[in-house]
Formats: sequence, structure tokens, C-alpha cells
Amino acid sequence: MLTSNKQTYQVVIVGGGAVGLFLGICLQQAGIKCLILEKRSAVRKGSRSLGIHPVSLELFEKLGFANSFVEAGIEITKGHAFANTRKLGTLSFEDCPPPFNYILALPQQKTESLLEQKLCQAESDLLKRRAEVVDIDQLNEHVNITYQVDGQRQTVTADFLVGCDGKHSFVRDKAGICFEGQAYPDTYIMGDFSDNTDFGSDAAIFLCEQGLIESFPLLNNQRRWVVKTDQYIPEVNRTDIEQRVQQRIGHNLRDQSHTMLSSFGVQKLVAKPMVQDRIILAGDAAHVISPIGGQGMNLGWLGAWDLAHSLKAIFEAGQRQSSILDQFKKRRKKATRNAIQRAEMNMRLGRRPRFPALRNGLVSLMLKTPLSQLMAQVFTMRGIERWII
Ligand SMILES: Cc1cc2nc3c(=O)[nH]c(=O)nc-3n(C[C@H](O)[C@H](O)[C@H](O)COP(=O)(O)OP(=O)(O)OC[C@H]3O[C@@H](n4cnc5c(N)ncnc54)[C@H](O)[C@@H]3O)c2cc1C
Repeated sequence: MLTSNKQTYQVVIVGGGAVGLFLGICLQQAGIKCLILEKRSAVRKGSRSLGIHPVSLELFEKLGFANSFVEAGIEITKGHAFANTRKLGTLSFEDCPPPFNYILALPQQKTESLLEQKLCQAESDLLKRRAEVVDIDQLNEHVNITYQVDGQRQTVTADFLVGCDGKHSFVRDKAGICFEGQAYPDTYIMGDFSDNTDFGSDAAIFLCEQGLIESFPLLNNQRRWVVKTDQYIPEVNRTDIEQRVQQRIGHNLRDQSHTMLSSFGVQKLVAKPMVQDRIILAGDAAHVISPIGGQGMNLGWLGAWDLAHSLKAIFEAGQRQSSILDQFKKRRKKATRNAIQRAEMNMRLGRRPRFPALRNGLVSLMLKTPLSQLMAQVFTMRGIERWII
């Protein structure tokens, strides 16, 4: 049954994941009437993303809610680098601009719950859950969006539609926008185990001859282990991680409990174009980058912030839509390219090198010189775009 109540919004967001929720908050604070349609009945379980970078915390601060994230997460102020088990040095974020001179570790599920809480504090009907968007129709002056909720179809109208519906975006496909890029040869397995290291709230990166291992602090005295593999392992079991960690760095995870195991391959994919008249893509719908370096969600937030300001300028000042969105597109393209380059650099560092002694020597040298400050900035997404210094 089609119910056409023709409710109208300035912006409708498809997808209430990390980026859609954040964009909703930005638009809400800009006084733009919007609606988020999300097909899931609750926040997705699991802790895909872990790292919230200082540049995002600065945006949270501007929106008035950084504190609740900082209180919920773990402040990573240092990362130790090893060649197998030999320590090369420590990268400190403490000299980065205060007050957020650390990377905040917070599981994505918790991040999304906090964002949803913030969004619904003022207006609880801004997010519609169990609402799957099944059709979109872009006309000259507006976009019609049809969604299905409890077996019923409803249609709403918006000046702009933003697809924040993830890597397999329905909006992108329906608009006929290409998603161009490539898969990298790198594959990884990861698992969250109870913590039996001495690293506390520090991160650790092991550049091993048989492949990279990363270890990050998690809430509730757990640690995430990310292990590079020679090929994709579709069904991971805990011994896949245990054995590799034991062989490469001699650390024993056998007696530790675990809560999550998974594997992933990596790609770079970019929507071309990110804006098609009244349809705009953001977050993973617009760009997917390698999770090594933990930038994807943060890049999505930077884009959402930029988009909210661009839309505000269009609505408030009556500025020309096409020129503002053209500028927006250029900025997003550049920021995405920068993030992709940094992710590639991170992945290269973790591959088996032809000359391990040379790589290890260079890393060690960089960590001991003022260049380490530059490295800290690169790892915390500073300078990813012009307004983030
Ligand atoms: C292993 C791993 C580790 C990562 N670590 C980090 C990290 O540390 N830091 C970082 O910044 N990034 C990290 N990322 C990347 C991060 O997880 C993504 O960039 C982020 O989830 C993108 O958010 P999004 O809101 O754009 O998309 P998604 O999280 O995919 O959300 C899309 C939403 O749209 C909804 N949806 C889809 N289709 C429809 C429809 N038709 N109608 C209604 N709703 C719909 C979905 O239900 C979903 O809720 C990691 C990724 C992986 C895989």
C-alpha cells in the first residue's frame, strides 16, 4: 500500500550509521529541517571502527558534545613501534595541539549510540528506524524518497537527498553513480581479546618479517589484535590469531577470552561524482579507504561537517547551489585523495619489505628526531584538508 503523506524536508539522509547520525546533528544545529531514514531497528553491533581522531573531537567540541565521548573512551597518547620484538621507538601524540592530543579509542557501536543520543535529545522524531529506502526520484526542484516501514510504503519530499547508506549504497546505485577504484592485495584478521600485555592505554605496532601486527587498547580491559595475513581467511577462528601472534612476537593469547573475530580485505573506492544535482553522497557511500590508519569514519565526519555548512549557505544566503556544491566536491575529492595516500603509506609500512633493516632503521631514525612530530600529525589526520591544521 502506498501512503503518500508528502511530508517535506530540506534534507533527507538515507542511512543512520556513524556518518548519517553526525550529519543529522550538524544539520539540526544549523536549523535545517531534516529526516534520517535507517533500515536497522537498532545500532549495529560490533566494534569495526576504533579510532576517533583529534580533528573529529574538535568538531564534536564545536557541536558541544566532545566530553561524553572522551569520558566513554580511552585516550591513546602513545604508540610503540617494534621490529619483530625489538623496540624501534615510541610515537607520542602529546605534543599535538591540546586539548585533544591523543587518539580516542571507542568501539563504533558505542560511538553510534552516543551520536544517536545527542541527535534525539532535542528532537526524537528526526531519526526513523526500520525505514528502508526503496526508491528515489530526482526531479528539477526536489527529490521524492520512498521508504518501507512495517510493510507500508511512504513517500517524503526533500530539497536535497544525502546518501549515507554505506559501501553498498542503494542511493549511489539508483542514481547511476560509478564507484571506481581497486582492491589492494593486503588482507587481515582481527580479534578482541582480554588484555594480558603491559601496554595499558598505549598502542603497539609490530613490523614483523612475516607481516604486520597491531595492538590497540579497548574498553573493559580488552585489546584488539590486527594481524596481516598472506591471503584472505573468510572464516577466522581464534587459533588463526593466537598462532600468528605467538610465532611473530612470542606473545601468548591462548588463555585469554575473546569477544570478536573477523577478517577483512581492503579497497579504495571513490564515487564519481559525489554530487549529482540534488543527490549527494557522504561517508562510505562516497569513499571507502583502507581501515589501516583508522581514517574512514573520521573522513566521513569531516565531509558531513563540510556538507552541512555548504547546505546552510545554500539555504540561508540563497547562494548559488551549483557553485557551492562544486567547491564542496573539489574539497571532498582532495581530502579523500590525501586520506587514501596516508592509508597506502600505512599499509606499505606493514608489508614484507625487501630490505627490512633499511625500513626498520628509517622508522627508528624518524622516531628519534623532530620528524616524529610530523609523523604524529600525519597519523592524527592533521592537514588532511586546508582548514584542518
Ligand atoms: C575492520 C574495520 C575497522 C575500521 N576502523 C576504523 C577506525 O578505526 N577509524 C575510522 O575512522 N574508520 C574505521 N573504519 C571505517 C568505518 O567503519 C566506516 O568508514 C564507517 O562505518 C562509515 O560510516 P557510514 O555511516 O558512512 O556507513 P555505515 O556504517 O555502513 O552505515 C550505513 C547505514 O546505512 C543504512 N542503510 C543502508 N541502506 C539503507 C537503505 N536503503 N535505507 C535505509 N538505511 C540504509 C545501514 O543500515 C547503516 O546503518 C573501519 C572499518 C573496518 C571494516
